[in-house]
Amino acid sequence: MQTPFGEIPVIDAHAHFFSHRFFATLAKELPDSPAEADRTATLRTRLPWEFPESDPVRLADRWVAEMDRHGISRMVLIASVPGDEDSVAAAARAHPERIIPYFMLNPTADDATVRAKRAFAELGLAGLCLFPAMHRFHLWEARLFPIYETAAAHGGVVFVHCGHLKVGVRDKLGLPSRFDMRFANPVDLHGVAKAFPTLPFVIPHFGCGCFQELLLVADQCANIYTDTSSSNDWVRLMPYPLDLKALFAKAIQVLGPERLLFGTDSSFFPRGWRKDIFDGQITVLEALQIPPTQAAQILGGNIARLLKR
Ligand SMILES: [Zn+2]
Repeated sequence: MQTPFGEIPVIDAHAHFFSHRFFATLAKELPDSPAEADRTATLRTRLPWEFPESDPVRLADRWVAEMDRHGISRMVLIASVPGDEDSVAAAARAHPERIIPYFMLNPTADDATVRAKRAFAELGLAGLCLFPAMHRFHLWEARLFPIYETAAAHGGVVFVHCGHLKVGVRDKLGLPSRFDMRFANPVDLHGVAKAFPTLPFVIPHFGCGCFQELLLVADQCANIYTDTSSSNDWVRLMPYPLDLKALFAKAIQVLGPERLLFGTDSSFFPRGWRKDIFDGQITVLEALQIPPTQAAQILGGNIARLLKR
């Protein structure tokens, strides 16, 4: 893509694959409409979004067309409910050069380790995503170690959502969210990241409200990364003024430009790829006078290096 920093292969390191199965799984949680036909109707009334066909390749095609429209090289697409590994695997099989498949895993489930092994070894997925506040576990618990070992053995990435957690689609559908933020501290990752020094851990959204804790733990562990995705409007919760420019500047100072991964948190159609988020971040990188080589690292080089693909 042509950017103010020259021609750069841009890779979005954080976007969601809201598959047919994703919506079907959420629909089952609807408290007020038990029959399947009613569930779909309820989803359609509450969400003014496009609902994907059951074949995940159609949604994959849609994302590739969107990448082409904007000049994006590749995207990380996250299967965003536990159990949806097959959808994103099919998407990546259809477009191996463009789609980098991640999956959400609930490590408290009995079959979590088996699922992680299958996802990496059989389906060829590239990263697993943990949501400690959603599934109520600590990142340092012993039951997670076989999962980390599996990710490390397959050159995977572990994405860990820390801090403030709000899942817009759940809110829009009126689904209850029993999130518990006491599990969401980036500092929980300290011993784990030390125990798996070659396994990259990505804490999205600059820590999502836990910026201080992200800096603390990332300063101690060279294998902790952050992504720049979403509006980062959590800065409104800070007790002191903080904006996107200050976030980038401080994160680059502490982590170095080689540990920041550009992302948008794009998720549904017809909105599609969040060019507004990209443009906002480009403006900040320009204002900070980031050298072109560093901008290229942040905008795609770093995630390509991490994934070795
Ligand atoms: Zn996200």
